[in-house]
Amino acid sequence: MATILEPGEIEAAASSPPFLHLPPHNLFTLRAQRLEQLADGHPLAEYLRLIAGLCRVQQQVLDDPPSAEVVDQQRLELCQQHGLPPFAADTLIREDDWQAWLEALLQRYSPPQQPAVVEAITTLRTASAGQLRAWAVALVSGQYSLVPAALVPFLGAALQTAWSHWLLSTPNLQLTPGNSLSQCPACGSPAMAGVIRHRGKHNGLRYLVCSLCACEWHVVRVKCVYCESSKGLDYLSLEDDRYAANQAPLRAEVCPGCNSYLKLVYLENDADAEALSADLGSLLLDMRLAQDGYQRLAPNLLLAPGDE
Ligand code: FE
Ligand code: FE
Repeated sequence: MATILEPGEIEAAASSPPFLHLPPHNLFTLRAQRLEQLADGHPLAEYLRLIAGLCRVQQQVLDDPPSAEVVDQQRLELCQQHGLPPFAADTLIREDDWQAWLEALLQRYSPPQQPAVVEAITTLRTASAGQLRAWAVALVSGQYSLVPAALVPFLGAALQTAWSHWLLSTPNLQLTPGNSLSQCPACGSPAMAGVIRHRGKHNGLRYLVCSLCACEWHVVRVKCVYCESSKGLDYLSLEDDRYAANQAPLRAEVCPGCNSYLKLVYLENDADAEALSADLGSLLLDMRLAQDGYQRLAPNLLLAPGDE
């Protein structure tokens, strides 16, 4: 187990970076604020504002949860003993506890008067538990073709809120690295993006941000998180008059080995940046990389791929 240190390991642990960085309790407010800022003058302003509104409802639900239930203590202990993600999405998604979170989110949400949004909300409100489960299973396993695109942001928002609640309401979590660098140690979901932190004990370190629970875990820099190669990595950004290319606050780490990329947010170049909003604010970069034949493996649960 990773939690008990032998005497010789204590020195090593003192200098090795903290493995986890938990999101703040106001994470959804931060996302909303940032999305609202990014929306000004942005070609996708309407979409960014819609998502900002949704993030504000996520925060309300997180602050006033529909059920105080945390994950079963016995399961938690077992998972930690065996180095498994305690909030495994592929298991918990089938147990329906999250459905109360969707209900709470839909109850509080007043959709803007856009026919597509109103229709999506009605569809979710009237769907059976079994149908919702099938869509949610497809969403967390990346099978976007099985979920109507218009439902994705709302379903994704509800799932994120439930999983962040479980993550943030469980004290003294001991987590071990997942099977791959890009896999969340808390819930097993793929990373959405990476953040290069710039303050305190995390200064200069790369943390990947979970697409579902928002947990952050340490992964060394200059290494493809998918194939673990360090050869020929390139760092691409959108042109921006405010920043030189090597100081852009958002760059994609592009791997020629496996033809994939992951977006990275550099806090030293923009201290207020936040991964989910930065990701949605830079969809133009994804379009360019897709044109160049690179594949995106990092989900953003508030966006159906190809829907931008
Ligand atoms: Fe996670
Ligand atoms: Fe690679």
